[in-house]
Amino acid sequence: MRSNILKKKKKFIEIKSQVVRIQNFDKKILVELSNKEKILCKKLFLAANTIGNTKIIFESDKGVQKTSFLDDCPYLIYGVTNNRVLNKFLSKSYSVIAPKLNNFFISLYNTNKINLSFLLFYFTGYKFNFLKKFNSKFLPFVKFIQIWDKKTKIQGFLERDMSYLVKDKKKDDNHHLDILNLFKIYTVKITQTKFGEGFHYHNLKIKKNNKWYIFDNYMKKYFNKRVFCLDSSSEEEINPGPFTITQMAIAYKKLGQHLK
Ligand SMILES: Cc1cc2nc3c(=O)[nH]c(=O)nc-3n(C[C@H](O)[C@H](O)[C@H](O)COP(=O)(O)OP(=O)(O)OC[C@H]3O[C@@H](n4cnc5c(N)ncnc54)[C@H](O)[C@@H]3O)c2cc1C
Repeated sequence: MRSNILKKKKKFIEIKSQVVRIQNFDKKILVELSNKEKILCKKLFLAANTIGNTKIIFESDKGVQKTSFLDDCPYLIYGVTNNRVLNKFLSKSYSVIAPKLNNFFISLYNTNKINLSFLLFYFTGYKFNFLKKFNSKFLPFVKFIQIWDKKTKIQGFLERDMSYLVKDKKKDDNHHLDILNLFKIYTVKITQTKFGEGFHYHNLKIKKNNKWYIFDNYMKKYFNKRVFCLDSSSEEEINPGPFTITQMAIAYKKLGQHLK
């Protein structure tokens, strides 16, 4: 895939400037760049992700009221486990388990090389400076665990001034507790990554004339099927866990389809 992308890249001109605004213009799309240049194109492929695309759409269409997107915000568990299945996947510093079911994903961090005072600080919130000289290798069962599942996706809304509001979580969203039980992880502390600080922004929606549109549909309707999204904004649902390579493959496939 890499060599195919590099081959294709040679056919394109690289412009080191940001897209500010897009407009329909004489059956084409007029793109305004931050260096004040304007480009007229037959087709436009956006890959600026949810925040970048939101800024472009707010600038381009004054009728857009707000946008919304999902951020995948894993639980961060400070725990103790000696589960054989988890440990089997644990490499020197970092390992992952991605069951075929694909409905959850666990990142397991080996804490053995972390300074003992840091480790205790993460777990308890108290500083133990006198332990700075020691590492944590004699605490092999202590782990940082991240759990991603279908319910770790948090929805937020972006206003035109780019302020945001987070949708309240349902009270019964405790799916991760089943996973902790399954792997017999004794939990010391659980936190959840905050919206906006998560890892996989996706599912961009646009509110216009009091109606919500998924991003692809909004662009089809208002930009005459000439603007296409290649980034994860237009993925309504993504699997939990690392997603970048999948997104690159999706982008590559979509580009090929639209350039035919
Ligand atoms: C802390 C962190 C760790 C992560 N770790 C992993 C990991 O280990 N494995 C994994 O698979 N994924 C990881 N991810 C997720 C991964 O980064 C994203 O899933 C992936 O980058 C999404 O790709 P994208 O093309 O949709 O958007 P992006 O990679 O965000 O690309 C958008 C690009 O558009 C540019 N842009 C924005 N606005 C404009 C504009 N107006 N004009 C022109 N360009 C613009 C931006 O500068 C950016 O380069 C991590 C994410 C975070 C935040």
